[in-house]
Amino acid sequence: MATAVNPTVILPRTPKGEFRNEPFVDFSKYENANLIKDALVQVGDMLGHEYELVIGGERMRGSAKLESHNPAKPTQIVGIHQEASPRHTEMAIEAALKAFETWRYAHVEERTSLLLNASRIIRERKAEFCAWLTYEVGKNWAEADADVAETIDFLEFYAREALRLSTATTPIQYPGERNELLYIPLGVGAVIPPWNFPFAIMAGMTAAAIVTGNTVVLKPSTDAPTIAARFLDVLEEAGMPPGVVNLCQGGPAVGQAIVEHPKTRFIAFTGSKKVGLEIHERAAKTQPGQIWIKRTILEMGGKDSIIVSSDADLDEAVAGVITSAFGFSGQKCSACSRAIIEEPLYDVFIDRIREAVPKLTIGDPAKNPNMGPVVNARAMKTIQSYIETGKKEGRLIAGGNAVETPEQGYFLEPTVFADVAPDARIAQEEIFGPVLAIIKAKSYDHALEIANNTEYGLTGAVYTADREKLDHARRVFHVGNLYLNRKCTGAMVGAHPFGGFNMSGTDSKAGGPDYLLLFTQGKSVAEKLR
Ligand code: NAD
Repeated sequence: MATAVNPTVILPRTPKGEFRNEPFVDFSKYENANLIKDALVQVGDMLGHEYELVIGGERMRGSAKLESHNPAKPTQIVGIHQEASPRHTEMAIEAALKAFETWRYAHVEERTSLLLNASRIIRERKAEFCAWLTYEVGKNWAEADADVAETIDFLEFYAREALRLSTATTPIQYPGERNELLYIPLGVGAVIPPWNFPFAIMAGMTAAAIVTGNTVVLKPSTDAPTIAARFLDVLEEAGMPPGVVNLCQGGPAVGQAIVEHPKTRFIAFTGSKKVGLEIHERAAKTQPGQIWIKRTILEMGGKDSIIVSSDADLDEAVAGVITSAFGFSGQKCSACSRAIIEEPLYDVFIDRIREAVPKLTIGDPAKNPNMGPVVNARAMKTIQSYIETGKKEGRLIAGGNAVETPEQGYFLEPTVFADVAPDARIAQEEIFGPVLAIIKAKSYDHALEIANNTEYGLTGAVYTADREKLDHARRVFHVGNLYLNRKCTGAMVGAHPFGGFNMSGTDSKAGGPDYLLLFTQGKSVAEKLR
């Protein structure tokens, strides 16, 4: 009979109190700013190291390498990684299958302890992880801190949720029987995260999978392999048994191999619509030897709108749109890429945006400007081509240019187009960069109609002082995450379960009370009482 996996390593820990979001660091305080500056120096000395694959707890090298680069200084190598070969992915699946045979039966406290230990380690080394995020994907201090805080939140929240799920029971007890509803794990999962929240989303999907008793083959983004390798170290330090999470670095080919493998039971993916749909198709095809229907949890892109009604508080609306559009250079699935303004306020709103946007500072995120670089040369090119399209589809009122730096980083000005038609390409397609389209609406109803006219349905916000308008938006604004009189980015674990409608994904609601169910299957047991 299988018992606890590794009781001597993972010290049982219980969550300390109710879940509370990790507070954000106040960098206006001298001592906090110094902590991050010191961490940037220390991590700066660790750049360029070589990392290995982690399969069944063993470190492995491959013949092909991949490098991650600092997008603010592309010649600076952040980490050198091994690209997994088909043999490695096969070994990783085998290692995950082997570990599943014990981990699936590990006591829930053992699994939650792993997450709580990991959260403690990360909390103690917060500034260091922020620095890695700054170097690897170009986050400024506050954006990096938010990513690390969300990582801690996911670990703490899912640990508590797993304990709650372990006490689930049937709605009624049938007379003469003992009835149970057990949420058991699925098996080996492929976890495929994006680069833009390379810590929180990567760790969050992994944590949800393992705390419910699954084992994982983790394939991080090629733009953010180092932060994932560092997370593997944290999990091992936290007491993870070998094979529970296996790290296979690489690009689409590695992703495809683990998605298609007949022993893969589920895929947790966050990324673009294009890749999400491709995974959906590949996972649907039954492979020889496969004995289940693969489950897919697919969180994808967005084309998110903020509606500003004629009665809105203009200062708040302008600030909310700018933060949502240009935070992390617009590289968030939740970023506001469409501001839909009711006609009476339109001209004054444009004036205010035209005045405020050029004041945003751009530069090396290590020095904490408002905006850092975009992630790589390919992203820069794509965004620039959308800017050219925007010049034909709208009136350029701010930005539009690349920003030259001595290190040739991938910097773009925050860019705004006014008078954009609701069906223009820049109003419909996800750009994933610092580009905002402003659209004029004839009325509030018209604004809502425009807001709902894309194939996506991720986030949205409304600024209005009118209670009836707020209630109307609650009913008809078709997005997974609706925000009223606040920005449309910055979802908080527990408070804003996150996931979108339509082509934004399967609405899995990460950080919410239903999320862990997606990583389990319910087993109903009825025992006749004697
Ligand atoms: P992406 O789709 O290019 O890549 C995501 C992951 O999929 C990466 O690990 C990548 O290597 C892998 N991949 C690429 N091709 C693959 C294939 N054929 N098979 C299997 N795996 C493959 O996305 P990205 O550029 O890393 O991230 C940005 C996108 O993610 C944006 O569209 C953004 O809106 C979306 N996103 C969505 C959410 C959400 O919660 N809905 C959150 C963050 C980001």
